[in-house]
Amino acid sequence: MYPRKFDYTAPQTIADAVAVLAADEGAKVMAGGMSLLPLMKMRLLSPATIVDIGRIDGLDRIEDRGDHIAIGALVRHAETAASDLVRVHAPALAQAASLTGDVQVRNKGTTCGSLAHADIAADQTAAVIALGATMVANGPGGTREIAAADFFVDTLTSALAPDEILTEVRIPKGGSGSAYDKLGRRGGRSDYAVAGAAAWVDKPNGTITAARVAVTGIGTKPMLVDAVGAALVGTDGSPEAIAAAAEHATEGVTLLEDLYGSEEYKAHLAKVYAARALTAALGD
Ligand SMILES: Cc1cc2nc3c(=O)[nH]c(=O)nc-3n(C[C@H](O)[C@H](O)[C@H](O)COP(=O)(O)OP(=O)(O)OC[C@H]3O[C@@H](n4cnc5c(N)ncnc54)[C@H](O)[C@@H]3O)c2cc1C
Repeated sequence: MYPRKFDYTAPQTIADAVAVLAADEGAKVMAGGMSLLPLMKMRLLSPATIVDIGRIDGLDRIEDRGDHIAIGALVRHAETAASDLVRVHAPALAQAASLTGDVQVRNKGTTCGSLAHADIAADQTAAVIALGATMVANGPGGTREIAAADFFVDTLTSALAPDEILTEVRIPKGGSGSAYDKLGRRGGRSDYAVAGAAAWVDKPNGTITAARVAVTGIGTKPMLVDAVGAALVGTDGSPEAIAAAAEHATEGVTLLEDLYGSEEYKAHLAKVYAARALTAALGD
């Protein structure tokens, strides 16, 4: 199906792009177009104006900023997955990006686009939450930072205002390891998550001093499950400690039954994948 008629603009600066968004309520940002265009073709979304950010300089980089790495708004999933910086400092995100969709999607879709889209079953959303990332939004009032744990508000709804652009995501360095794993919808791993979990741990001297686990695919939004991390702190991260902590994987989550599984099945998978992600993060 063809989308409804729309205007198209490709500004060359963030300020110009924000100005269009601020002036036109019906305007929508386009990055890779991998989620936006299908929605438009199905006529589930009909923006009056597409603001293509693809020609804005400087958004296509992954940068080492000392205490964090920054991933710009035009960095593709494939680049995030292959980046040595991401693989070393944020393996959970590299793994989530490598498990996002198929080759075409990974070559076109952007990490920030996936985060801004806020699909309940997306992969990189859980990874950035577990990694304690910060989202950088640019709007008419300037720049603001949003913690990843607060960024995902509801199904397909992020904390971005309609006239804001997610210009980069910042991932703090540090910790002993991180990992992401999921069950994909068609039974494999390269598809939206029926259930997935990302884990980050810090275990400096044989004892876990901090841990974060985020889940995706099982509820109304990807989210941090504080109880899992809290149960691990002070332990040695043994298989028994991981299994006990993973039992908390659905605490605070509003479970959502869908075509791919009942609430009970999703709850079970969340515990399995939380344990797998933690095991991999501790072995990292
Ligand atoms: C066949 C297929 C399979 C897929 N499988 C998976 C999968 O297994 N796992 C997974 O996680 N995802 C999957 N996806 C989604 C894919 O990862 C998309 O690329 C991603 O969700 C959106 O990135 P994009 O750059 O294409 O964004 P776009 O499609 O351009 O935009 C998506 C939405 O985000 C907004 N947006 C984009 N960038 C910004 C920005 N910088 N600032 C503000 N708003 C912005 C747009 O306005 C739009 O509302 C799949 C998609 C397809 C088509």
